[in-house]
Amino acid sequence: MSELLVDSNERPRCVVMKFGGTSVEDAAAIRRLCQIVNGRLRYHPVVVVSALAKVTDQLFAAGDAAARGDRENARAILQEIEGRHSTLSRELLEAEECNALCQDLAVDFCATYELLEGISVAGDFSLRAQDHLLGMGEHFSSKLVHSALVQNGLDAVWVDAKECIVTDAAHTRATPLWTETNQRLESLLGPLLGAGRIPVLGGFAGSTRDGVPTTLGRGGSDFSAAIVGAGLHAAKIEIWTDVDGVMTTDPNLCSEARCVGRMSFDEAAELAYFGAKVLHPSTLLPARRQNIPVWVLNSRNPYGAGTEISAHSHGDGRVKALSVKRGVAVVDVEPVRWLAPELLREVCEAFERYHHTLDLLSASRGSLSLLVTSTTSLPAIANELKGLASVRWENHKALVCLVGEKIRRRPEIASKVFRAIADIDVRLICQGASERNISFLVDESEAEESIKRLHKVFFSSESKPDAGASHYALCQSGGSWQ
Ligand code: ASP
Ligand code: MG
Repeated sequence: MSELLVDSNERPRCVVMKFGGTSVEDAAAIRRLCQIVNGRLRYHPVVVVSALAKVTDQLFAAGDAAARGDRENARAILQEIEGRHSTLSRELLEAEECNALCQDLAVDFCATYELLEGISVAGDFSLRAQDHLLGMGEHFSSKLVHSALVQNGLDAVWVDAKECIVTDAAHTRATPLWTETNQRLESLLGPLLGAGRIPVLGGFAGSTRDGVPTTLGRGGSDFSAAIVGAGLHAAKIEIWTDVDGVMTTDPNLCSEARCVGRMSFDEAAELAYFGAKVLHPSTLLPARRQNIPVWVLNSRNPYGAGTEISAHSHGDGRVKALSVKRGVAVVDVEPVRWLAPELLREVCEAFERYHHTLDLLSASRGSLSLLVTSTTSLPAIANELKGLASVRWENHKALVCLVGEKIRRRPEIASKVFRAIADIDVRLICQGASERNISFLVDESEAEESIKRLHKVFFSSESKPDAGASHYALCQSGGSWQ
């Protein structure tokens, strides 16, 4: 337990608890949240929340309608969001608290109607306006969750995330300015924690040094939690969601999918990169830098074991999970002359000029195969390379990946894979540049069958699930669960 006691500032080490959109979607979810936080009191929780489920999409739709001049629709969408927040306030709070919150939110909604008005006058939903508008979802939800915690007798304090997370001005995909952010976190949240209080803040949003609102990109509340956790030297970061943890594969593709008990930062990052949607891909960077374990937990099943993501992999040489990245195109680059040593450089430079990311690349005898997730700039790139190489591409492919620390050192894994899918047409095989990834490309229509077969091979029900650590021993002793 000593890891949980104090950090170098002699302040108790905290636990950052992030609740996603479905974990705050209705009154029942918010009540569960309050119980879960109550169960962590002695570990000094900091609560980070997403917008209520669907609100971010609705705000986007409202801004889009406003920019097209459809003021009425834009206002109607915002009214619906406002109605949902006031209904929840009434359901969760007693009259006095409810009135106080509703009055406070009324001011924020009023400012948001004005924001929509501004967008419609400008006729432009600029990225800057998008950030301002979309970030309001977390602003509203965090105030609601704060009031609900207080109503439950917890000493919670609402903190404006925009004052804590300082970012560059890359709207809709801002990056934190770490030094400033860490200073703000320390000065704004440190004293609250020191006084035994529970800071509550919205995820996703930040602001520039000049106070212009920004966001960290869709799904960015996970990243916010990791930023806060890293800045405060948290003992751990908990991502509370609506699935049992990181799954062996997408349960929609394979009903046998089950929760992975433990995985390494690298394994989880690889999975996020190759299509798994559990965590925002940037989340793990700050956690890993500070070696803070990240737990993925189910707020609808709080006693479940969850997944622990940490520096240790546990079980090297085993396949931990399977993922699929759909909507991939394979691009074949064939040099027009027999030997073109400059081809690789020219191709990379052409892709860079169009800010087109390359996902994977394999080369053989002078020709190249590339994988991309968007084909929009390919005609222009093909044109630039004319005279040097011919460029052709095929859409609707899926990249199936097996992830597990050191699986490439085990040749029997690759042979099991290819035996299992021997009759499926495999377009490209990449034993990844990393030791922890084996991937291959199939037609999108074959992805599900490939996953089902591989899941059977590597996770058949006879093999024991990889049980999680004694996480819930900690949770249960941490407070009461009603
Ligand atoms: N509410 C934001 C989104 O839907 C951020 C998040 O929930 O992580 O993208
Ligand atoms: Mg999310």
